[in-house]
Amino acid sequence: MVGRPDSNSDATIIGVKDISRRELGAPMSESMLETDRPPVALRIGHERVSTASGGVYQHVNPCNGRPDATVPMAGELEVDRAVDSAHRAFLDWRRVKSAERRRVLLRLADLVEAHAEDFAQLGAMDNGTPTSIGHYMVGLSVEWTRYYAGWADKISGDVTAALRTEGEFSYTLAQPYGVIGAIITWNGPLISLAMKVPPALAAGNTVVVKPSELTPFTAGLFADLAQEAGIPPGVVNIVTGGADAGAALVRHPLVTKISFTGGPDTARRIMHTCADEIKPVVMELGGKSGNIIFEDADLDAACSAGTISSVGIMSGQGCAFPTRMIVARPIYGEVVDRVAAIANSIKVGDPFAPDTLAGPVVNEQAVQRITGMVGQAQRDGARLITGGRRLGGELAEGYYFAPTVFADVDPKAELAQKEVFGPVLSIIPFDDEQEAVEIANGTPYGLSGYIYTNDLRRAHRVAEDLETGEVLINGAVNLGVTRPFGGIGVSGMGKEGGREGLYEFVRIKTVSMT
Ligand code: NAD
Repeated sequence: MVGRPDSNSDATIIGVKDISRRELGAPMSESMLETDRPPVALRIGHERVSTASGGVYQHVNPCNGRPDATVPMAGELEVDRAVDSAHRAFLDWRRVKSAERRRVLLRLADLVEAHAEDFAQLGAMDNGTPTSIGHYMVGLSVEWTRYYAGWADKISGDVTAALRTEGEFSYTLAQPYGVIGAIITWNGPLISLAMKVPPALAAGNTVVVKPSELTPFTAGLFADLAQEAGIPPGVVNIVTGGADAGAALVRHPLVTKISFTGGPDTARRIMHTCADEIKPVVMELGGKSGNIIFEDADLDAACSAGTISSVGIMSGQGCAFPTRMIVARPIYGEVVDRVAAIANSIKVGDPFAPDTLAGPVVNEQAVQRITGMVGQAQRDGARLITGGRRLGGELAEGYYFAPTVFADVDPKAELAQKEVFGPVLSIIPFDDEQEAVEIANGTPYGLSGYIYTNDLRRAHRVAEDLETGEVLINGAVNLGVTRPFGGIGVSGMGKEGGREGLYEFVRIKTVSMT
C-alpha cells in the first residue's frame, strides 16, 4: 500500500480506485462527478502541505467546464522549504550505495505498475487524457523508471591518458549536481515525471518538481509511491503551482540545474534567470514536426499514424506529433481523402470510457486559441477538409474540439509555422525531394522528423538532411526510453532518454596526480 504520512491519504488512494470501478463505461453525466476528485497537497520532505502561500487555484473539469478541486499553490515560501529539504536530503542520498538506489527505483517502477489504473484515472481527471492512452503512458513510465534504475550502479568516470607529465595519473569522477529543479507542463504529467525523476535520482541528485496547476492530481501519488519504495523523504518534493513558483525554483541558489518541459517563451525567461549564475538547463520545448510521405510509401501506415497521432491521441496536445504532413504531389489527393476518413472515425468524448481515443483539450483558453488559429488558416487560404469547430451536443459544456484537417496549407502561413497544441493537422504538397526537405526544415522548431518511403537510400539521405533532434522512418511517435529524445533550435537543448539523458544529471570532475 501507499506510504501515507497522514490519515487523509487513505481516502485519496481508495477514492481513486472506487471511481475507477464505478465509472468505466458509465454515461457522461455520471462519469465526471466533481466530488470524486482526490484532495491535492504539496509534498515537502515527509509532509503533505494542504495550504500554501501562493493561494489556491480552482481546477476545472475539462469534460464539463465545472470546478472540481481546489489546488493549494506553492509560493516562494514552499519552494524555499522544498529546496531546503531536497538539499538536506542530498547530503545523504549522494552517499547511498548505488545498488540501493537501483533497488528502490526498481521498487518504484513496480509500484507505479501496480497502480496503473489509479494513474490512468488521475490522468483523465488532470487534463482529460483518455484512460486508454493513460494506461499506455503508465507502461512507458514504468519502462523509464526501470531503465534508469539499471543505470544507478553503472555510472562511472574514466582513467585519462597522461600526455605530457611522466607519472601523471588522471581520472574523472561522474558526480551528481545536487538539487535539480524539474519544471513540467500539463500534457503528460506522469511521463514527464518519469523522464526526469528516475535519471536524476539514479545519478545521486535530489529533485524539487513543479507540476502545472492545471494537472494537480498525478504527481502526489508518484511522490507517495517513491516514499513507499524506500526513497527517503526530501529526495522527491512536489511544489504544484504556477509561473511564480517556477520562477522561484529557477532562481533559488541551491538549485544547481534546471530540467524544463514547456513552451519556448517560458524557456527564454528561465534562461535569462539562469544566465545570472550560469546555471545549466535542459530544455524540452515544442515542435512543428514535418512528416514527409513519398509516393512509394505504405499509405495505410503513413496515413493512419500521421492522422491518429496529430489529431487523435491526446487531442493533438503533444510536442513531437507530426502536425505537418508533407505529401508527394502524385499521391496528394488520395492521402487527403484517406486522412479525412481516418480523422472522421476518431471517437472523441468521455475520457473515462474505454473506447475513447480523444478527450477534451485542456481548458477554455486552449479552445479559444485553436479556434483563432483555425479562423486564421481559413483567411490564409487553407482548405478545411474536416472539423474546424468546437463540438456541441452532449459535449458542449466541455473543451472538446473536432479532429481538424486542412489541405493546401501555405508552408509560410501561421498554421504551418506555429504550434497549435490542439487537434489540427496541416497537409502540404511537394514536387521533389529537395522541396520536401526545405518545407520540413522551414520552421524555427527542430524536434522530430518523420519520413515515409520504401526507398532505403532516400530514407537515410533525407534523415541526414532533416534539422531535428530525431528522425522516425516509417514509424510513429516513439518515447522509448533507450532513445535520446530532445530537439534543436526553438525545440530546445539537451536530451531525455538513453545514456545521454542520464548524463544530463551528472557533472564530470577531472582529478590529476603527478
Ligand atoms: P509553459 O511554458 O507555459 O509552462 C510549462 C511550465 O512552466 C508550467 O509548469 C508553468 O507553470 C511553468 N512556468 C511558467 N512560467 C514560468 C517561469 N517564468 N519560470 C519558471 N516556470 C514557469 O508551457 P505550456 O503551455 O504549459 O506547455 C505546452 C508546451 O510544452 C508546448 O510548447 C509543448 O510542445 C511543450 N512540451 C514539450 C515537450 C518535450 O518533451 N519536448 C513535452 C510536452 C510539452
